[in-house]
Amino acid sequence: MSRWTHRHILDLAAFSREDYAAVLELAHRFRSMPVTGARKLPALQGRLVATLFFEPSTRTRSSFELAARRLSADVSSFSPGSSSLSKGESLLDTARTYVAMGADVLVVRHQCTSVPQQLAEALEASGERTVVLNGGDGLHSHPSQGLLDLYTLAHHFDPLHPLPEALRGKRILIVGDILHSRVARSNLWALTACGADVVLCGPPSLLPSAFAGFVDAPPPGQSVDPVPDRGSVTVSHRLDEALPGADAVMTLRLQKERMSQHLLTDLDRYHRDYGLNHARLERCGKPVPVLHPGPVNRGVEMTGALLDDTGRHSGRCLVEEQVRHGIPIRMALLYLMAAAESSADAALASVG
Ligand code: ASP
Repeated sequence: MSRWTHRHILDLAAFSREDYAAVLELAHRFRSMPVTGARKLPALQGRLVATLFFEPSTRTRSSFELAARRLSADVSSFSPGSSSLSKGESLLDTARTYVAMGADVLVVRHQCTSVPQQLAEALEASGERTVVLNGGDGLHSHPSQGLLDLYTLAHHFDPLHPLPEALRGKRILIVGDILHSRVARSNLWALTACGADVVLCGPPSLLPSAFAGFVDAPPPGQSVDPVPDRGSVTVSHRLDEALPGADAVMTLRLQKERMSQHLLTDLDRYHRDYGLNHARLERCGKPVPVLHPGPVNRGVEMTGALLDDTGRHSGRCLVEEQVRHGIPIRMALLYLMAAAESSADAALASVG
C-alpha cells in the first residue's frame, strides 16, 4: 500500500485508487471492532477534533463526532446560531479560535464552495499544523459521503473484501438533482476511480449534458489525473431507459435550498418521471440495492415503502447501512490524517 499523502481532505478528485483502498480497508477493520464504552481505541487520545458546521447537518456532523470519540479524541462543536459569528466575527477568526484552543482537526461544512480549502490554505500560510477535513462545501464536494457510499457499494458486492476492485465493471445509476449535488460529484470521482461505469439520470434542468465529461480532464488544480483508467460517465434523461442493466441505483435529494430559479414544475410529475419504487426497479432485471445520502423527501425521490425496505438480509434500501458505515469511514479518515506523516501501512498495522 502506498504512503498516505493527504494532509487535508478536501476533494476526492485528488485520490488515487490506492488511497481509496487504504480508507476502505481501515474502515472495514474499524467496522468489525468493538469500539464503544471502555473499549474505545486510544489512537487520537489527547487530540482535539472540532466540527465547524455553517450549514445544517444530521448525519455527517454526528458521525464525525462519534468517530472522533471512538478514537478517544476530545470533540468540540460549533453552531453558527449560538456563536460570535452572529456578532460579526469572520469565519477565519472563528476557525482560528478553535485552533488556539488546540484543535488538531477542523471538520468544516459551508454553503459556499471551497471554504474548507481556503481555511486550509490560510492556516498553512500562518504555519499552523491543524488539518482541515471537508464536511461538504456548496455544490462542490462531500468526500466522506462519497467514501461511505463507496464502502457501502463495495460491501454489498463483496462483503468479505469490500475494496475498490469490487466496483470494477459495475453499472451504477445516480438519479435526481445532479446539478446541485456535491454528493454526486464526489461519487463520480470515487466510483470511476474504482472502475465503475456511472450513468447519471435526471431532468435536463437538473442534469446538464456537460456532466458526461465530468472526469475527462485532469481534476482541477492537478496536471495529471491520479487515476489513469477511470470508468465511464454517461447521461440519460429517461429513468425507465437507464434502469435496465444497472447493478445499483443511488437517488439524490431535490436540493430546493440551492435552486435559484424554478427548475421543476411540480413534485408529482418529478416523482412520476424520476421517483423510485419497487415496480420500477424490476426494470433492472435483477434485485438491485438502492442508496440515498439523506435526508430523503419521502414520496418524492422514492416511495415510503422502498425507503422502509431495509431488512438486514433481503432489504433493497441501504440508507441505514450508509449511515452505519459513516462512522468507520470517518474513523478511518481521522486516523489517517492523524498519521499523515507515517505510511498507510503503518496505520493499518497499528490497528491490527
Ligand atoms: N446530506 C447530503 C449533503 O450534505 C445530501 C443532501 O443534503 O441532500 O450534501
